[in-house]
Parts: sequence; structure tokens; C-alpha cells
Amino acid sequence: MNNNSKLLLQAQKIIPGGVNSPVRAFGSVSGVPRFIHEAKDAHVWDEEQVQYIDYIGSWGTAIVGHAHPEVVDAVCHAAQNGLSFGAPTADEICIAEMIQQIMPSMEKIRLVSSGTEATMSAIRLARGFTGRDNIIKFEGCYHGHSDSLLVKAGSGLLTFGHPSSAGVPKDLSRHTIVLPYNNVAALEQLFAQQGDSIACVIVEPIAGNMNMIPASNEFVQALRSLTDKYGSILIYDEIMTGFRVALGGAQSIHGITPDLTTVGKVIGGGMPVAAFGGRADIMECISPLGNVYQAGTLSGNPVCVAAGLKTLEIIQRDGFYRLLSARTQELSEGLCKLAREAGLPFSSRHIGGMFGFYFITGLPECYEDIQKADLQLFKQFFHAMLARGVLFAPSAFEAGFVSAAHSPEIIADTLSLAAEAFTEISREI
Ligand SMILES: *Cc1c(COP(=O)(O)O)cnc(C)c1O
Repeated sequence: MNNNSKLLLQAQKIIPGGVNSPVRAFGSVSGVPRFIHEAKDAHVWDEEQVQYIDYIGSWGTAIVGHAHPEVVDAVCHAAQNGLSFGAPTADEICIAEMIQQIMPSMEKIRLVSSGTEATMSAIRLARGFTGRDNIIKFEGCYHGHSDSLLVKAGSGLLTFGHPSSAGVPKDLSRHTIVLPYNNVAALEQLFAQQGDSIACVIVEPIAGNMNMIPASNEFVQALRSLTDKYGSILIYDEIMTGFRVALGGAQSIHGITPDLTTVGKVIGGGMPVAAFGGRADIMECISPLGNVYQAGTLSGNPVCVAAGLKTLEIIQRDGFYRLLSARTQELSEGLCKLAREAGLPFSSRHIGGMFGFYFITGLPECYEDIQKADLQLFKQFFHAMLARGVLFAPSAFEAGFVSAAHSPEIIADTLSLAAEAFTEISREI
């Protein structure tokens, strides 16, 4: 038995399923999850010392590459000055100002420790500000695991949501309305019927949690105009897309100014930092200024903020996004070309440093479309690549991430390994 298998057995005895977050368990691809021992630049090594080219990148946080020396130095330096104070610091102001410069819609910002906290707090704030209870989310979008957001669509199009997890009270899920993504007509109909009851709409402006599916221009325009018309708050959940699809996130691509934005992942550079922010008049409703309560023992933790500040500094250097986008494009278009040459149903998208690939003909536009992807082919491809030393997300419903450390040579290596993998799986059809 190899070290990964041994560790899995040991982990399963003490940690439910052996993992601290479900997708890590390889449930949808089967097999033994790799226990990672070390990561550097574009690579990770497992407990068998096997090297992998990594396209998970800690789910997008590792945008400058793993263990970037400048980020590691910043963390070590901060740690020597104390791990946590539970009091305000100068660096918190620096990172908030830096985020604000990059995303001007975030007029005021509060730091938290996870994306889940950021979206949960933004929704509480929207409810407090509007005095309304109902919220809208979209099918296939993920916004963390707070109760109000673990809700799936009911049977009819306009019915209230049902809990998507045990332990979420039905009464609570009744306040979450789940609509199909990229469907302007459904959104218009819902607002026409009960727009006055809607506190907020929360959206992944480029969805990355049902694989990668961008919102259409029409859809984001409708989101902005309907929320304006009915006095609802528009929340852009840019926890994945912020500093990833472009420096200024999806909102800079769409030319949309949301009322509130949530960010995470990249802003911590691999450490637990997330934030929510937006219109000053809304943000001022947060305690201690207003009566919407929100707090955190480790919020703005100095060691984490040091990693985030250095990461944000690096990504603002000349040419960062030009190179990142070029390499992501090469990968995404290369995979598409090779898969089609092998006669497989396949398509792919990329924006900035984020990509999606789907075993499907044509491009998916919503959750229903992505459900048609060939999961068996995905699974075979995933394992064919893993066996060749390339680690993609272990699910057909996750996006992929390229970092600045993925050199042209690494992308070329990935593509030649993918050519072998596609040929192998096309033989098995
Ligand atoms: C990752 C993610 C979250 C949750 O963030 P956590 O830090 O895992 O709690 C929320 N929304 C989106 C869009 C995400 O990608």
C-alpha cells in the first residue's frame, strides 16, 4: 500500500471521509486522493514524492505560483512580529486601500477569514439595509456553506427553494429563491411578481462552481437594471473571479458596478483572508456604526494580511495578466484542438487565468447544460492525466486555474501529455 492510501485510511478514522472539505475526497472520480506534502511554483508533490503539474492552485489562490519567495518572506517577517493581536493594524488599512484601488465599487471594505463569512455577512447586510428577507441566487452558483445559501431550486420555476443540505431549516430556505443562470425572462418574471420583497440578488458573475460558465452581457445588464428598479442590492460574488479573470475582476470586464462585492481566494495569497465591501451608505450599516452585527476574532489577521498584500502587489506588476491570459489561452485552446483530433466531444473556455473544459459538444450556458457533460469521459481523462503527473480538479463541475509560474514549457508539457491521454480514452469508447 502506498503512502497516500495509508494516510487515507488513517485520516478516515479521525476526520469524516478523511478530508476537511468534501471535493478533496475524489468522490466523483474515485481513487485515492493525493496527500500533498509540498508545493512550489506550478508543481505539487504528494506523500510518494510524485510530482504533479497543478491546475487546482488551492482553488485559485496560488495565482503567483506556490510558495512564491516574496510572499513567504512577507509571511515570515509578519509572523516574527506576532501571530494575532485582536486589535487594529496599519496593514489592514493598506490592504483595504489596495483592494479599493483595484475594485473602485468597494468604497468601504471589511476583512473576514473565509469566503463563506464574506457572502453570509453581505447577505445579512443587504437584508438589514433593505428591511427585506428574501434573496435570489442562481442554480449552479456556489457562495459558501452558510444556511441561506445551501438551497436548491424547488420544482416549479418560481417556487421557493429547498435545502440542499440536511440541517438547513425549511423555513429559512423559503427565503431563498433559486433561478436558472443566464435566464433573463425568469429573472424579469420573478421581479415583476415580487420584486418589492427581494433584499438582494447574489451571483457569480463568471460562474466557477458548475465548471466555468460566464454570465451573458444581457443577463448582467438585467441584473443591474432590475435590482435598481426594485431597490434590491446586487451582490457580485467575486471570491473566485476577483483578481483572477482580470485584475479588477468580472465587474471590470462587464462594466457593471455592483452594490456589494465579496472577494477571497487570491486576496489571501493562500492564507485565510476574504472581504466584503461596496457602497459606503450600505457598509455603514455594519456594527459598530450601524445595527447589522458582524465580527471575527481572526479577521484581518496580520500574518494572513501580509501574504495578501504581497500577492496583490505582485499581480499589479507590468504584464502580469497579459502573460497569465496568454498561457491559459494556450492551454484551453490546445486541449480543445487535441480532444477534437481524438474524436472526443469536448469544448473549453478561458478568461484571464481561469479555464473550464467540458466533455460535451457546444458550450454550456447554465447548470442544466453542464449536467449533460459525459462524466465517464471526464473521469477517464482525469485519471489518465493524474497517472501522467498532471493534477486537474477532481470534479467535472469545477473550474481550473493557471498561475504565473505555469511557464510556456509547462503548458506545452501538459498538452503533449493530454494528447496521449485523449488518444488513450478515445480507444476505450
Ligand atoms: C470558494 C468560493 C466561496 C467560498 O469561499 P470559502 O473560503 O471556501 O468559504 C464562495 N463563493 C465563491 C464564488 C467561491 O468560489
